[in-house]
Amino acid sequence: MKTNRLSRSMRIILIQLLILFFLTLSLCIKSRQAAAENVLPVQKESFIRWVDFTIPAEVMEKALRLDIDTCQDKHHLDWITLLAWLGARYGGDFSRFRQKDLEEAAARLSSGEAISAMTADMKYFPYYLEAYRAVLGGMVGYFRQEIDDPESSPESGKRIWVTKYGLKDFSPIAKGFPYSDYDDFGASRSYGFKRKHLGHDMMGQVGTPVIAVESGYVEALGWNRYGGWRIGIRSFDRKRYYYYAHLRKNYPYQSELKVGSAVTAGDVIGYLGRTGYSDTENTNNIDTPHLHFGLQLIFDESQKEGNNEIWIDCYEIVKFLQMNQSQVIKVDGTKEWRRVYRQDDSAVPPIKRL
Ligand SMILES: [Zn+2]
Repeated sequence: MKTNRLSRSMRIILIQLLILFFLTLSLCIKSRQAAAENVLPVQKESFIRWVDFTIPAEVMEKALRLDIDTCQDKHHLDWITLLAWLGARYGGDFSRFRQKDLEEAAARLSSGEAISAMTADMKYFPYYLEAYRAVLGGMVGYFRQEIDDPESSPESGKRIWVTKYGLKDFSPIAKGFPYSDYDDFGASRSYGFKRKHLGHDMMGQVGTPVIAVESGYVEALGWNRYGGWRIGIRSFDRKRYYYYAHLRKNYPYQSELKVGSAVTAGDVIGYLGRTGYSDTENTNNIDTPHLHFGLQLIFDESQKEGNNEIWIDCYEIVKFLQMNQSQVIKVDGTKEWRRVYRQDDSAVPPIKRL
């Protein structure tokens, strides 16, 4: 009887020991998992460090057309997804562009094929998607815009608001103002120190109204020894920083603009000039009047200033944006111009099909 009881208590102890063993084991596994999770966020913090944006304007236009034409379809073709699929296929080299490739991507997506299935063997598709979305992300969508009231005569000046879907961004130069340009990204510059030209120059007449390409907040406004009078505007998603430089002497900006102001794509923000290349404010030291237009991508705030800045070639983007130029009128008795048709860039829900 005694032996029996002893063996019973031994069994209980043994069982308790086993339970303890398994509990300790599971704790060990959990702490190892936690340690692994502690490492993961570091990997998640990796961000894109370089982008070569080389998509020709014609290809952007074709993708945009497909996007707009299908904006109310069951399978809406997102232009950035189409371009990223092409980018992944060509390794970013758009000299390999073939119309049939774009048609293939459009047909497969339209038939309901999932992009994840289409890109299963494309290792770099996520990179191109993120990179192109950073460049083009704010350009297309729903917006409200003023148009002439079709019920009234054009002379009456009566306007109504309509909801549109399409290109929201504008060319940096106002409609009706001539300019000339060429692909000058990366050309050598020697003022101050030898460096590469990280923008796009648009030669025009002093006083030409400069237009906000995308909506955003004014982040920089004032004198810079290279850019002269310049404006820096950050997109609302904070991924793009637009830099407009060498603005007009004495009257560089739209008068109400200050750091922190919100601007809408298509607004007049300043005036073309030839200031810059001087430590003395308000100095004209540029021979040929032009707008220096730059576009910087920011995947992480550490890339905003310093050696890790990503500036992209805007030549093809500017060419692409020529289809959307802001119409402006002179404000009587001032040196200012203002836009004719206002735009409301806040995302509005899509119009339901009847
Ligand atoms: Zn320049």
